[in-house]
Amino acid sequence: MSMLEFDIAVIGGGPAGMAAALAAASILSQQNTDPKLRAASNSQPSLRPTSRNPLNENENNKQELSSHTSSNSQSSTLNSPLSTLLSQLPPRVALIERAAELGGILNQCAHSGFGLTYFGEELTGQEYAKRFVERVEASCIEVFTDTTVLEIGDDVVLTITGRKTGLARLRAKAVVLASGCRERPIGALPVAGTRPSGVFSAGMAQKMMNLGGYNLGKKFVILGSGDVGMIVAREFRLRGKRVIGVFEKEPKCGGLERNRILCLEKFGIPLHLRSTVVSVHGAGRVGGVTVRQLDTGEERFIKCGTLVTSIGLEPERELLEDLMASAGGMPDFLFVAGNACYVHDTVDDAVAEARRAGRLAADFALGVAVAGFTHGDAAGKPAAAGGRICVACPKACVIIKTPDGFTGALCGRDDPTFSPKKK
Ligand SMILES: Cc1cc2nc3c(=O)[nH]c(=O)nc-3n(C[C@H](O)[C@H](O)[C@H](O)COP(=O)(O)OP(=O)(O)OC[C@H]3O[C@@H](n4cnc5c(N)ncnc54)[C@H](O)[C@@H]3O)c2cc1C
Repeated sequence: MSMLEFDIAVIGGGPAGMAAALAAASILSQQNTDPKLRAASNSQPSLRPTSRNPLNENENNKQELSSHTSSNSQSSTLNSPLSTLLSQLPPRVALIERAAELGGILNQCAHSGFGLTYFGEELTGQEYAKRFVERVEASCIEVFTDTTVLEIGDDVVLTITGRKTGLARLRAKAVVLASGCRERPIGALPVAGTRPSGVFSAGMAQKMMNLGGYNLGKKFVILGSGDVGMIVAREFRLRGKRVIGVFEKEPKCGGLERNRILCLEKFGIPLHLRSTVVSVHGAGRVGGVTVRQLDTGEERFIKCGTLVTSIGLEPERELLEDLMASAGGMPDFLFVAGNACYVHDTVDDAVAEARRAGRLAADFALGVAVAGFTHGDAAGKPAAAGGRICVACPKACVIIKTPDGFTGALCGRDDPTFSPKKK
């Protein structure tokens, strides 16, 4: 099996993975570790900032953008022998994506509402992704699409399989896991009945409509009021379909208030709180569902051809859990970014944290001590019932809530009042 060598391996080419890879490449491109380059740069002013605060987003963003939007802009500050040597450096960041294209979940998001914070304008998910893909293409990052990471070894060797590489191994000094999240399937709920065709998770329905051009039916019931479900309900209405209602077991909407207003209220789609689907009917194709009002126990049959579920997202962390089981905790070299860490409400938040993860991973690969937390202090535990994800740093450690506060890794910050976001 061939062995590929990199400084940083980023798993997942969604917005978080791309942002982390760009941030890491920015740090590495400022750090001259090649002996020829070191000799050549002895006479040069340092390319690397003398001090960098991993928590200072604005300052770091400026540095990252200036070194990334164009490698020429950096070259112009160098004399030509050094810039020639720099351009000859092999790529040191690998970005690995199992899909055929970079972009992650954004590729199926044709609606707008992305990028207000990061780009200061409202973009569709596809436009947002395109901007990052262009930056990646203009950088020295080596992209492996159609490539899946099967395993992360505790010796920092990844097992990958892909179109370009076949089954191969890839050694890095640090790894960023940005594998996103997956939807909870209907099988996770105690719903009775047959399993006819016409039951889709919201993200899958969106992908089939927007990327595959499929017609998923005429009359829809949505189970769960997560953001994805509400956005998809609106997409059905925009295509002239009938959405009978969104049924939510909790007493309040599960998604953002913004999405409730823009996707449901504005389109006259009823939201039924304290209600759920208890059985699915139909042979071959969905013929209807039975919904129950949970306070009164009243049940009614609703005729529909398609049931779409939006019942939650789960970070995709199997690679991490396997690694933690074999390494006996959270290894120093691993950083977690984006929805793989916890499910973010907006892509801008995922990107901001991913950039931080990328910079920390690069610093770790370079052996630079990072202000803010100490590697090794952040020992994690495999996910356990009642566990939450610590988001104080991109180690994504699992912590457990106790009556006295939280136990587990808090990045060396033994702070019982610290309140991480919910998983
Ligand atoms: C329907 C929908 C609507 C949304 N609307 C908005 C909105 O209006 N505004 C907003 O700001 N945000 C919105 N979001 C949220 C935003 O899209 C996410 O926060 C963001 O995409 C998360 O990025 P990510 O990189 O963490 O995950 P993803 O985009 O899911 O990317 C993860 C990538 O990792 C890859 N991967 C996973 N495992 C492996 C492996 N083993 N090997 C190789 N590759 C792997 C996957 O193929 C995927 O491409 C929406 C999300 C959805 C689903």
